[in-house]
Amino acid sequence: MARILLVEDEDSIGEVIELNLTLAGHSVVRVSSAEAAQDIWEGGDTAFDIALLDIMLPGMSGIDLCDYIRNHSDDIGIIMLSAKSQEQDKVIALSTGADDYITKPFGVNELQARISALMRRIRKDDKKSVPLGEDILASGPFTLNIASRVLMKNDTVIDLTSVEFSIMELFFRNEGVALTREKILEGVWGENYYGDIKIVDVNIRRLRMKIEEDPSGPEFIVTVWGFGYRWTV
Ligand code: CA
Repeated sequence: MARILLVEDEDSIGEVIELNLTLAGHSVVRVSSAEAAQDIWEGGDTAFDIALLDIMLPGMSGIDLCDYIRNHSDDIGIIMLSAKSQEQDKVIALSTGADDYITKPFGVNELQARISALMRRIRKDDKKSVPLGEDILASGPFTLNIASRVLMKNDTVIDLTSVEFSIMELFFRNEGVALTREKILEGVWGENYYGDIKIVDVNIRRLRMKIEEDPSGPEFIVTVWGFGYRWTV
C-alpha cells in the first residue's frame, strides 16, 4: 500500500483514478491544482510515497510542481500524467525529476503496475522477496500486484493467464525453496485436482517463454532434477 498525492484538474479522470487506487488498497489525497498541492506540502504533510501529477493544470504546471516536490524530497516517487504524447514533455518531466511518465488515455491496470514498479524501485534496498503491502510482492526484477493481478519485470508488464499468475504468486511466496510438481499442482489447481501432473510442466514452459531472457537456460525458474522447480532471484 502506498500513500499517494494525486493532482488532476479534470474531476472525471481524478475520480476514476482515486477510486481505483483506493480499491487497490492505496491511500489517496486528491487535489485539482498545483497550488493546492503546494499548500499541503507547506502545511507539513509530506509523508507521501508517490505523487501522480497531471502536466496540464490551471495556473502552475505539473512540471513546475514536480520541480518543487523534487527539490523538497528525494524519496518520493513521481509519475507524470499527460494528455500530450510529445516526446518533449517526457524529456522535460524526466529531467525535472519525475521517475516515470504515463500518457492519457491509460488503463488503471497499467497505472497500478507502474506504481507497484516504482514502489519496488523506491524500496529496492530490500533484495529479498518482501511484501511491500498486502497486495504487492517484489522479487528480484519482478513485481507482482495481487490486487490488480499484474506482473511486471522492471518496467514492462508481462501478460499472464490466471494459472500462470497463481504459479508466480506461489514462487514469490517460496523464494529459494525447491517445490515439487505435486506441491505446485496442489497450490495452484487445488487439492482436489486429479489431472495430469504434466500440466505443471506445460505452464512452467510457457512462463519461462514470458519471463526468461533465455527460456532454455532459465535464470529464475530453475529445474531441480528429479524433484521440481525452484524460484531463484
Ligand atoms: Ca489537466
